[in-house]
Amino acid sequence: TTVRNPHGIHVRPAAAIVTTLADLDAEVLLSNASNGRGPATADSLSRIASLELQKGHVLEARFSGPDADKAREALAELAARDFGEDWRRTRQPAAAASIGRRLDTPLDPAELPPAADRRAVVGVINRSTTRPTTAGYRPMSPKEELTRFTSAQDEVDQFLTDLAASSPAAAGIIEAQRMLLADRELQHGVVGRITAGFSAVDAVETQLTELTRSFDQFADPYLRERGQDLRSLRRLLLLALTDQPLADQSPNTPCIWLLDELDAATAVRLDPRLCRGVITLTGGSSGHGMLAAQGRGIPVLTGYPAADQFPDGQVVAFDPVTRELWPDPNDALRAELERRNALRTESAEHAQSHAHEPAVTRSGVRIQVEANVASLDDAVSGAREGAEGSGVVRTEVLFANATSAPTVEEQADIYTQIGRTLNGPVTIRSWDPAADKPLSFLAQDPEDNPALGSRGIRAMRPHPELFADQLRAILLAARQIEARLLLPMVTSPEEVVWARQVLDRVRLDMAAPELPVGVMVEVPAAAIRAADFASLVDFISVGTNDLSQYTQAADRTNAAVRELARQDAPAVLDLIAMTCRALPGVPIAVCGDLASDPQATATLIGMGVRELSVRPRMVAEIKAAVRQV
Ligand code: PEP
Ligand code: MG
Repeated sequence: TTVRNPHGIHVRPAAAIVTTLADLDAEVLLSNASNGRGPATADSLSRIASLELQKGHVLEARFSGPDADKAREALAELAARDFGEDWRRTRQPAAAASIGRRLDTPLDPAELPPAADRRAVVGVINRSTTRPTTAGYRPMSPKEELTRFTSAQDEVDQFLTDLAASSPAAAGIIEAQRMLLADRELQHGVVGRITAGFSAVDAVETQLTELTRSFDQFADPYLRERGQDLRSLRRLLLLALTDQPLADQSPNTPCIWLLDELDAATAVRLDPRLCRGVITLTGGSSGHGMLAAQGRGIPVLTGYPAADQFPDGQVVAFDPVTRELWPDPNDALRAELERRNALRTESAEHAQSHAHEPAVTRSGVRIQVEANVASLDDAVSGAREGAEGSGVVRTEVLFANATSAPTVEEQADIYTQIGRTLNGPVTIRSWDPAADKPLSFLAQDPEDNPALGSRGIRAMRPHPELFADQLRAILLAARQIEARLLLPMVTSPEEVVWARQVLDRVRLDMAAPELPVGVMVEVPAAAIRAADFASLVDFISVGTNDLSQYTQAADRTNAAVRELARQDAPAVLDLIAMTCRALPGVPIAVCGDLASDPQATATLIGMGVRELSVRPRMVAEIKAAVRQV
């Protein structure tokens, strides 16, 4: 049978195969005829997943034993139903169900204090890392360790059963985790290790880490994400073994979340009323999760591996601006942090008192200050801060939790709402799947080097209709609001020619008027050859987040190269200056994070930049910085 599921046979469909065949007395061997993997016995979920059956691959099955015919029929019937996965409707974002509790309560950005995301915070750690602390665990005899493992397994199973009942939306993922828990390979591995003298904690840790690694090696990004299901299971088993509660301990009191990493889909669901701040063990300073969380007024400290030592309930303080972190803050420190916060709030409030006035330099140059938007909340925050439109709407983050491609009407509706909220033009960027923000509804081919692969506009070439639909939506919105189109990750003029052809086709179909088209300069090649774009663009927007990562060859999500990825690195500034010089008369905006840095405002204006699109909560402060230039 040919696999039709967009993400192939990952954990959930594999779980369906195991359950369907479980009661039959048959041996079923599965192979992937397309990549030669297998055979794998159909009674182990992780073995089935290891076949890496992707969409379009051919699944072969061989049956033996008394119930062979029944098994063949049952499997054929399941395959006809896409292995029980109505993937058109049921896809869930991975992080949502696997890391603790997330709240979907609407957020009123007006409730957030000024400079909320720049506040130093004190709070109790709520570990949602996938590795709880196991310090203090005392191993006993292998027999006793086996008993401990079995009862931990029962406890986790019961916990998952209750969880599935209370959150039907996540029931699919939770059921798959229960299946994994009962998986033969997992069982054998753990029991084998305990019998060989490992403690239950070590056996669980090693066996599940090994299994997780095999998922991490899968080529398909979606399948790789399923490793999260296993990590989540490892966490639950370790919690059960060390007698810690399985549920989040303090879901109703604000605490500081300690996460492995923060992806955008999770960040847009964080509730600042319950999440005082976020510390991540990995991640750079301009990853999309971090930008999205800040937009929600949440202070974030990314890429802080040393925080892994803190157990649940530990009181810590951190300053997101200076990147300092302290355990057990004493009164003197608390007072110092209060002072810092008071200064930041004061400067934010002062800026806000002039938020709705234009930003004009001392020498009379008018700068348009806009908000970067990844949610309607960002538009609301931006408007409150005096944003004069948006220099980039990150549509892929706006729809980060979409389970299927949003329709033209759904898109047009939200773009229009953003436009009505903001007082000025709205620059809508076409889908920009990147290494750390896949398009949730688009399965892409695996890549060894995703940051250098089929990203941004490149990823649209194989999907012209997906792109065309987005252009239709933007044109529809443009009937109500002032809209512009922005093309991400452009490398060569030929890409703009292609995009314009699609735009013209769609536009003529709709009898719509012309729309300003801009190109993001975030690939060094585009900056170096900026003049080649002169006749193709109405404006340029410099994306310094990517421009710095590609210029400095320093992954923006990697804490180890944080300093190299600095956006004010001389080479990055030179490329911005070069772009401005090469395109006289073309309006140049900066929408990367450098625009949100008041220290860089004068430099950028000096180069000829006249439009700054910034973090929504920084609009008023950047306006204030402009007035100092
Ligand atoms: C950038 O790269 O600077 C940019 C604005 O785009 P994003 O951060 O969404 O990649
Ligand atoms: Mg970018």
